Amino acid sequence: MSVDVAIVGGGVSGLVTAYGLARRGYAVAVLESRVRSGGNAVSERFGGFLMEHGPNSLNAATPGMLEISRDLGLERQHLSLGKGARNRYLVRDGALRRLAAHPFGLFTSDYLSPKSRLRVLAEPFIRTRPNHDEETVAQFWGRRFGAEFANRVIDPLAGGLYGGEAERISMPATFPTIHEMERRYGSVTVGALRRVLAGEAMAGGKLFSWRDGVGALPVALTERLGAAVRTGVTARRVMRHAGAFRIDAGGAGVLDAAAVVVATQAHVAAGLVETVDACAADAAGSIEAPPQAVVFLGYERGQLDHPLDGLGYLSAKIEGRPLTGALFCSTMFANRAPAGHVALAGYVGGSRHRELALRPPAELMALARAEYRDLLGVTGNPVAARVRQWPRGLPQYSLGHRMRVAVLRGLEGRVPGFFVTGNYFAGPAVPICIAEARDTAERVHRHLAGRAGAMPAVAGG
Ligand SMILES: Cc1cc2nc3c(=O)[nH]c(=O)nc-3n(C[C@H](O)[C@H](O)[C@H](O)COP(=O)(O)OP(=O)(O)OC[C@H]3O[C@@H](n4cnc5c(N)ncnc54)[C@H](O)[C@@H]3O)c2cc1C
Repeated sequence: MSVDVAIVGGGVSGLVTAYGLARRGYAVAVLESRVRSGGNAVSERFGGFLMEHGPNSLNAATPGMLEISRDLGLERQHLSLGKGARNRYLVRDGALRRLAAHPFGLFTSDYLSPKSRLRVLAEPFIRTRPNHDEETVAQFWGRRFGAEFANRVIDPLAGGLYGGEAERISMPATFPTIHEMERRYGSVTVGALRRVLAGEAMAGGKLFSWRDGVGALPVALTERLGAAVRTGVTARRVMRHAGAFRIDAGGAGVLDAAAVVVATQAHVAAGLVETVDACAADAAGSIEAPPQAVVFLGYERGQLDHPLDGLGYLSAKIEGRPLTGALFCSTMFANRAPAGHVALAGYVGGSRHRELALRPPAELMALARAEYRDLLGVTGNPVAARVRQWPRGLPQYSLGHRMRVAVLRGLEGRVPGFFVTGNYFAGPAVPICIAEARDTAERVHRHLAGRAGAMPAVAGG
């Protein structure tokens, strides 16, 4: 069998790349090793609850996100974040501290010590660094806002959003916009204020989902792509063949293609590019993705003392808790739990507790239940419980990540027709993966359009 473009990996990145190319009229094939497409983006309904195995909410402010939702007909099941989910909680000294939704929430709460709050206010007066060595997230925020802010505010965010540790991940790779603010304005506070005055959305301000969960996205994409998505097919090797590429899919046979896009997790990409480019294989192979578990528990409303009036909570590493945090799913979006019930998603693992994420599910449930007893006043047994374990969770943008990405981006110049895309390029969030994948589709199109005899059957898109 032969196609214009073979896409290996049917997660959001692979499906969006394929969709962009199919709309331009190219013959595409998506090879997905699992029995269903979608990668991390899996939503499961059971007993009136909706569990997100992976992504829980999406940032509507990322350019192109709402456009693809509209384009796929998902707009009518769009769910904005519930009003009750505007507060955020952080754990301090074994108890939840509420942060109000406004930008001064940190100052009106007692989460940070008075000394630390003063230190945060002094940020515009902190000099920029004379040298340009790459800093970790912890170094950057500690230098600009003080150690307590870095340990108590940034560390929980690094654990909760990136499954990482602030002292291991790279500041310019993880928070490029904020990193740039220091360079441009000499201060993060000044840069942020200028963004607010310019009417730009603050991070997290525009979260949304769909009635059937984030998994509705790959379902809609797979429907549009039809027979082009081949599940249960694992690409084992990619070889150059007669001026194009040949993919060995083991028992599923071989697939010839004018161009190949590898849209798998980084460690798989490392193996697949090895035959064509050792540098890219090394770069992808050194991107870690520690295990991550999601513990979903449902309760009757009366089993909890806490009002769950927020998005959820995060814990700093120094609190020594097994969960990096939990989301109040039934407060975030309507339709996530039956009437009179609530749903909580707890997160275990990432680089903070990598060994814990792969413990038996019963043990993970016991950890989450003990934590909710302690922090939320939960009593009795959950009425619904499920655990999802990802042996490889979120990719870590550790020191040197930008260099690895540059090597990987250079692959398409060194091996024309071979492309790599995924959540380890510009950010792990789904909307960023979508933007990256659309860009990849555009580059593949330019490559194919430049080759004689490989024009799409239908132009446009
Ligand atoms: C627990 C968790 C919570 C998250 N929460 C959020 C959130 O709230 N909001 C948000 O925006 N993002 C969130 N993310 C991040 C986001 O879900 C991922 O970064 C994104 O879905 C990755 O998509 P992808 O297609 O790049 O990779 P993946 O989803 O990993 O897809 C790669 C696909 O390639 C397939 N594959 C691998 N090897 C082969 C092979 N040899 N042949 C064929 N197929 C192969 C895999 O089976 C998989 O389906 C979360 C992630 C996790 C794990």
